[in-house]
Amino acid sequence: MKRLLEVQNLKKYFPVASGRLFEKKVVKAVDDVSFFINKGETLGLVGESGCGKTTTGRTILRLQEPTEGKIIFDGQDITKANMLPYRRRMQIVFQDPYASLNPRMTVGDIVGEGLDIHKLCANKRERQDVIVEMLERVGLNSEHANRFPHEFSGGQRQRVGIARALVVKPEFIVCDEPISALDVSIQAQVINMFEELQDQLDLTYLFIAHDLSVVKHISNRIGVMYLGKLVELADANELTFHPLHPYSQSLISAIPVADPKLSRTRQRIVLEGDVPSPIDPPSGCRFRTRCSYATKICAEQEPEFKEVKDNHFVACHIVE
Ligand code: SF4
Repeated sequence: MKRLLEVQNLKKYFPVASGRLFEKKVVKAVDDVSFFINKGETLGLVGESGCGKTTTGRTILRLQEPTEGKIIFDGQDITKANMLPYRRRMQIVFQDPYASLNPRMTVGDIVGEGLDIHKLCANKRERQDVIVEMLERVGLNSEHANRFPHEFSGGQRQRVGIARALVVKPEFIVCDEPISALDVSIQAQVINMFEELQDQLDLTYLFIAHDLSVVKHISNRIGVMYLGKLVELADANELTFHPLHPYSQSLISAIPVADPKLSRTRQRIVLEGDVPSPIDPPSGCRFRTRCSYATKICAEQEPEFKEVKDNHFVACHIVE
């Protein structure tokens, strides 16, 4: 299987004001994260808000510059490369379809902007045909091209956002919580559309979500992030049925199950406390302040992220 994207020891730190003269502090939003995504695959990335998953997605696309580490796309190191040739091939669908569409542009121009930037159409006629074809692919139609974003529902706007990303024929898409701002009733439709488009257009996704129940349906593999670190990464079924990291176990236990019998016997693991500040994370294992298995070593040594079973990686001292 061909690797389309590889991220090696990626770090993204943001400087913050400490309140004291000459004292510099940083938020370690992404701190030494490594993974790869095969062509045609969906890698789900989950974790609570503020865990660094969105920053990871944006840094991969170089919408934010990495502090350290390497980003390799289709065999090329793009960490410091001119991104213009890669912008067409690597796209993003944003979380908030209300904020991500220019309210003064028609939907046709929003979708067509990428065609203009990358000079993909020979004339206006071709441009119009490509826009209409793309709108139809995402469940809209030619009439929608002349309307403005405020005339659409949230679900329709997200379809416009997807059409905008797809119109330039990308190979890789960062889906940054693309359904979390939508009504529960239409979330499944949009997820199904992502899956259909992936099959039709041979797309590779990094699918970011805070809700594991969403990610487990669409992903081939799932990575779990906590406070800037990847703590577990495995095949989607393996992670859902045999989570090894205590944090992943708590996320899995929170997924509602339809079977009432199973639901009664299943134990929900409720985490104590809040996520600590990424400016001053706990020593050793960052999860230790909320982990019921924590021992002395957890405060002293950072657990190594290592393969403990075939293709199952975890960072925890008690898992061997
Ligand atoms: Fe819990 Fe220790 Fe494992 Fe961290 S390393 S998850 S604190 S047992």
